Amino acid sequence: MILLNVLEGMMGKHKVSEADKIEANNLMEEVVEILEPCIKCGMCKSLCPVFRVLREEQVSPRGKAIILSEKILDKVVFECTLCKGCEQECPSDVKVCDAILKGREAMVLRGKGLKSDAERVREVWKGGNFFGKRD
Ligand code: SF4
Ligand code: SF4
Repeated sequence: MILLNVLEGMMGKHKVSEADKIEANNLMEEVVEILEPCIKCGMCKSLCPVFRVLREEQVSPRGKAIILSEKILDKVVFECTLCKGCEQECPSDVKVCDAILKGREAMVLRGKGLKSDAERVREVWKGGNFFGKRD
């Protein structure tokens, strides 16, 4: 059911129900709990490939942790490769990727999935691959 919701959310077809809102709220409670040990030291930043390229605090693991801890659902949660580089040096053993995945799921449940993902899913359904063609 969750997978179907995720796909529909990516397709932009997902209608947000009361149950989805509750599920999203529960997920965000879990996110806050996961990120609670973060001491905002920033030791994770240098290990993040996304931060190394974009050089913006908000896309750094610390930035994402701060945003998600405030229960703010922003597209920055999609700007992560889930490489777990940030978790290697974290002195508080914060499971950043778990928080990011739950944050993404909450965004989709609230109908805020990425349009680019919706387009890719549409192409696969239409043509059998990401490029919209059958070879
Ligand atoms: S996630 Fe870990 S390394 Fe990064 S700011 Fe928080 S405590 Fe520091
Ligand atoms: S898991 Fe995401 S936030 Fe952590 S280092 Fe990799 S890209 Fe950066």
